[in-house]
Amino acid sequence: MKCKGCGAELGSSMSAYCPDCHKQAALRNLHEAREKAVAGAMKTLRRYGIDLRPARPSDRYDVRVSIDGDMWCCLYGENLQDGLAGFGATPGAACRAFDHAWDNEAELAAREKVDG
Ligand SMILES: [Zn+2]
Repeated sequence: MKCKGCGAELGSSMSAYCPDCHKQAALRNLHEAREKAVAGAMKTLRRYGIDLRPARPSDRYDVRVSIDGDMWCCLYGENLQDGLAGFGATPGAACRAFDHAWDNEAELAAREKVDG
C-alpha cells in the first residue's frame, strides 16, 4: 500500500497516508477551519453593522518585532529555530514576510520536519 499523498510505501499500515502527509493534512484542516470560523463570525458581525477587516497573522498573533543586524525581524515563538519569522528592511516589510510565511503551511511543515 502506498501513501495517497506522496506515494511512499506504507508497508502494513492501515492508514491511507504516511505520517508526514497526515500531519500536513491536519495542518491544512486546522488552517481552513480557522479561516472559515473567522469568515463566519465576521459575516454575522457585518449583519449587525460591525465591519471588521480580516486581521493579518502578524496582527492576530502575539509576535515580536525587533531589529536584527540591518534587518527587521517579525517573530512568533521563542526563537528562530522553534518559531516562525519574517525579515525585511522595515518593520512593515518584516510583518508582510511573516504573513506570507504563515500562510505557507508547506514551508512550516517542512521546517518542522527538518528541526524535529
Ligand atoms: Zn505521504
